[in-house]
Amino acid sequence: MKKEDGATIEKIVSLCKRRGFIFPGSEIYGGLANSFDYGPMGVELKNNIKNAWWKRFVHMRDDMVGIDAALIMNPKVWKSSGHLATFSDPLVECKKCHHRFRADKIESKKCPDCGGEFTQAKQFNLMLKTFLGPVENEESTVYFRPETAQAMFVDFKNVLETSRKKIPFGIAQIGKAFRNEITPGNFIFRTREFEQMEIEYFIKEEDWKTVFEMWRKEMWSWMTDNLGLDKKNIHELDVPKDELAHYSKKTIDFEYDFPFGKDELYGLAYRTDFDLKNHFKEPPYEDIEVKEKFYPHVIEPTWGLDRSVLAVLCEAYKEEAERVVLKLPAKLAPYKVAVFPLLKNKPELVKKAKEVYDLLKKEFTVAFDERGNIGKRYYSQDEIGTPFCVTIDFDTLEKDDVTIRDRDTTKQERVKISDLVKKISESLNA
Ligand code: ATP
Repeated sequence: MKKEDGATIEKIVSLCKRRGFIFPGSEIYGGLANSFDYGPMGVELKNNIKNAWWKRFVHMRDDMVGIDAALIMNPKVWKSSGHLATFSDPLVECKKCHHRFRADKIESKKCPDCGGEFTQAKQFNLMLKTFLGPVENEESTVYFRPETAQAMFVDFKNVLETSRKKIPFGIAQIGKAFRNEITPGNFIFRTREFEQMEIEYFIKEEDWKTVFEMWRKEMWSWMTDNLGLDKKNIHELDVPKDELAHYSKKTIDFEYDFPFGKDELYGLAYRTDFDLKNHFKEPPYEDIEVKEKFYPHVIEPTWGLDRSVLAVLCEAYKEEAERVVLKLPAKLAPYKVAVFPLLKNKPELVKKAKEVYDLLKKEFTVAFDERGNIGKRYYSQDEIGTPFCVTIDFDTLEKDDVTIRDRDTTKQERVKISDLVKKISESLNA
């Protein structure tokens, strides 16, 4: 599938590799099925998304605190949470070529690889196992967390006691999760190791509908205002009752029009008091005023970080007559500005450009480029989404001003060096 302005998944993959956003993992050893490494540009983009999320949902709110928990938790966590028993996908195997597929995602009734018959579907647990310590047996078996969420429940009392929050309040976490997916694919859309940004928001039962609605709006605003996704590319799916996860009473999936089709970007679930009841024998919360102990209910908004990166790249990718440009929201761009001396072989221009570079580096992530002609340098920055390019020319040496070029309009204007930081900051905060 192709979007009207040219983003196919192949083009995104190729740009990511070529420009240092995302590489195939362990590539020099032939790769490792669907593992990916974020390169110099990718890690900046990903961190910018994480930081924007943390700022918006933790720092800017009075009703939120964060944690950063261990990836490997006591296996009893996964027994209590129900993951050991039910965190599985239906798996079918081709009787002829023995390739395996996720039954609920495969459209044909026959094997797409060889046309063979499938076996009956059986449940395949998605948790990734390993052993802790020198002995490999049942007692030492542990699991990499399949979601970040459980730590917020397990740490609930510790957080409560140390933060002195009262409900409604939330605990947020960003971190890796692992799932032994039957069929990973579509680049970083479905991998076995990925990052989540999750919130468990604790409430009184009677408030769940209002709070669910509040988070629904917050998620929309995040997607459009922070990630710059176009509303028309986002769709809500009310998950039918018979497809709800074992803990959920209501779930909305936010789907995005990826170049390979519409698929899940984020989820919003009402998890009731299922998790806290599983982990705590006694109600872990007390309303001091009325001296009542109870199990808070939970609304869970969850954001896949890698899927956020992918959606942002797909949305931003534009092919224009002469160039490929990533129209990233300026705040998410890996470099905010690039600095060029007009000519590489004029030491006075290079020296002045380095001074401007050093000045801007104190405030922003900055690229410096002196290779080839200016036009090529502009296109090179357009392709990685740098919002501004600053060129130092002979006039700069006399007037202390520079040409600043806008990525989206390609318009250029003269700005005093002393006004540059202000000008760039203003547009980043617009
Ligand atoms: P799917 O139906 O696509 O398997 P899910 O409904 O199981 O996803 P959740 O358990 O709700 O996913 O996980 C929360 C979020 O984590 C998802 O909305 C998605 O953004 C992200 N996510 C889940 N699985 C993966 C994966 N294998 N690779 C990358 N991101 C993932």
